Amino acid sequence: MNKNKELFEQSEVFIPGGVNSPVRAFGSVGGTPIFFKAGMGSRLIDENDKEYIDYINSWGPMIVGHANPEIINAVKKTAEFSLSFGAPTSRELTMAELLVKLVPSIEQVRLVSSGTEATMSAIRVARGYTKRDKILKFEGCYHGHADSLLVKAGSGALTFGQPSSAGVPADTAKHTHTLEYNNVTALEECFKKMGHELACVIIEPVVGNMNLIIPKMPFLNKLRELCTKYDTVLIFDEVMTGFRVALGGAQSLFDIKPDMTTLGKVIGGGLPVGAFGGKKEIMQQLAPLGPVYQAGTLSGNPVAVSAGMKTLELIQKPDFFENLTKNTKSLVDGLIEAAKINNVEFSAQSVGGMFGFYFSAHPPESFGEVMVSDRDKFNKFFHLMLDQGIYFGPSAFEAGFVSSAHSMDDINQTIKAAEISFKKLK
Ligand SMILES: *Cc1c(COP(=O)(O)O)cnc(C)c1O
Repeated sequence: MNKNKELFEQSEVFIPGGVNSPVRAFGSVGGTPIFFKAGMGSRLIDENDKEYIDYINSWGPMIVGHANPEIINAVKKTAEFSLSFGAPTSRELTMAELLVKLVPSIEQVRLVSSGTEATMSAIRVARGYTKRDKILKFEGCYHGHADSLLVKAGSGALTFGQPSSAGVPADTAKHTHTLEYNNVTALEECFKKMGHELACVIIEPVVGNMNLIIPKMPFLNKLRELCTKYDTVLIFDEVMTGFRVALGGAQSLFDIKPDMTTLGKVIGGGLPVGAFGGKKEIMQQLAPLGPVYQAGTLSGNPVAVSAGMKTLELIQKPDFFENLTKNTKSLVDGLIEAAKINNVEFSAQSVGGMFGFYFSAHPPESFGEVMVSDRDKFNKFFHLMLDQGIYFGPSAFEAGFVSSAHSMDDINQTIKAAEISFKKLK
């Protein structure tokens, strides 16, 4: 009896598509989604009691692995003193201070409950601050599912062939302009035409939502230069990359200071926490100080913040990111080698604890290049790996994640499984 299949069929009766977030449905790769009942470190157990090495990490948050005892204890201890107050707590202050310390471009920060809320609110502040309506984003970047950001918006939407969602009024979408990622010429032309009308540019400083794409430095530098020149707010959406590619986020790796930053995923350690912050001058536009409204019943929730704080504490240990980066790189190198032995056209790369692999000769640099990689091969590879207990993202458009709980044994086991899979793919 396949319990996953049974549960999925029942779920489809009560939940649209059987899932609470589309990419979980295996729509892209085919087959039945896995229902998990437990996780420990790098491992997950499904409803059939099958064990997997997890390279999704709940899409990023589980950077120290599942059921980390210190995080679980922090959550339990906090929960005993009530789950929510709807009033300020000292914990929120501690977290805000830490975020400001670790991400120097953030002078003030507000906590919310998801990445979507963070980006949506950051855009509203940027618009209020500049008194402009237009925003600029890049093809294939995902910034949550707020209306104005669901235009050419990456993985989940890509997987389902909906680059723009139904239900977003044309009147809203018309303020969102999109350009090709890594294209300096297009960027310059756009600013020349409408720079003075752009409230903000929002960008994933390493893209993790059309598989993994690394920015070119001249592109990022030009973006910073143009935003400064035209008084356009530069928003780094570090919901995925923040505390994942480095302790100071992608902005510390590339040494670029955005005006605003959005955070999520890792800062909640598996519970719902998001944050947006940046220059004090911009953040002080927010109510109750300024005219831009933003609020949340559960914002800064004590239990969620305690999980996040403990996670942030653990990742500040010496060499945490050095080791994570090294292990992720050895996974990527091993996969490349395994493909090469078997003559499979394949490439892969990583940044910190994030990686991407592609059934194409070179890593892509833009949305267009991601689209031409061999999806059919990816889907076959995905299932061959899943059968062997290796859980990658169920779509060719998702990045992968390694945690500090992944041992070299885990990684070697994964590479061995990949050798077998590549052999079968030929
Ligand atoms: C995941 C993600 C979001 C959305 O966060 P949610 O918590 O899912 O709402 C926004 N931006 C980026 C870059 C993300 O990876």
